[in-house]
Amino acid sequence: MNFTASPFEKCFFEDKTFYIKRDDLLDPHFSGNKARKFYHFLTHDFPHIKRVVSYGSNQSNAMYSLSVLALKKGWEFIYFCDHIPRFLKENPMGNFKYALQNGMTIIESKERYADSLKLIDEITLHVEEGGRQNEAEEGIEILAEELMADIKKYNILNPYIFLPSGTGTTALFLQKYLPFKVFTCSCVGDDSYLQKQWEMITACQDFLPTILTSKKKHHYGKLYVELYVIWKRLKEEMGIEFDLMYDPVGWNVFLENVEALEGTPIYIHQGGILGNTSMLERYARKANML
Ligand SMILES: *Cc1c(COP(=O)(O)O)cnc(C)c1O
Repeated sequence: MNFTASPFEKCFFEDKTFYIKRDDLLDPHFSGNKARKFYHFLTHDFPHIKRVVSYGSNQSNAMYSLSVLALKKGWEFIYFCDHIPRFLKENPMGNFKYALQNGMTIIESKERYADSLKLIDEITLHVEEGGRQNEAEEGIEILAEELMADIKKYNILNPYIFLPSGTGTTALFLQKYLPFKVFTCSCVGDDSYLQKQWEMITACQDFLPTILTSKKKHHYGKLYVELYVIWKRLKEEMGIEFDLMYDPVGWNVFLENVEALEGTPIYIHQGGILGNTSMLERYARKANML
């Protein structure tokens, strides 16, 4: 299986021009940066592998993408997460629902990482939380090549990239392959958290992305009315639905800094839309409780 290049669009928001790389449209089932990160596993043969084992949160985009990978490869998929709320068990939705439909075996465990390591053997492919691993390089290099072609085609002068980070893997390898600046922000922890994530990706330490911050700290996965408002305005003004976990945090940081940045901004839409149903449901429940 091979992807064709994802679309690249010129958009406007608050009277400013932003180019958007639409990795959310890469492939209906295998999209966003997880498709880039797992490209290596998808496109190479692993004759001895019979199952993939990973761990992380119960609504992770990586979890869903691994379920698609396992299905395409004919592998078993075992996933460890620390807790599945009763509400979600009774009303499966979003990434959780579709990963189960793809045949995922999910195991609740307080020691999710340690337990996932116990299953490692010669038939098992073990994938780090969120796909933070050296194998991600291959797919992200292709994304960088596509971006270079897009920039040429659109005659973009003095481009720079912005994308929100979880593990920072995508931003790190993009910076390795792009001859201009990659800006990012940490959605999961503080800046030192993101730097530690980068140190764990041993293959690439020469060129680090530049971290931007916002005046206001947002905690990962928590609901904030102001972030929902940004998400909705982007949807209405640009006609693009972004993910609700990373993108509103990213756009909030980006918009706060964009006036001070020189050049033409390119934002990477990294997919994750499937997870929005559960986030919207949480926002609706929060609104009802207010
Ligand atoms: C996983 C994910 C990220 C974070 O990617 P990293 O490479 O871990 O930094 C950002 N946005 C979306 C939509 C994601 O699914």
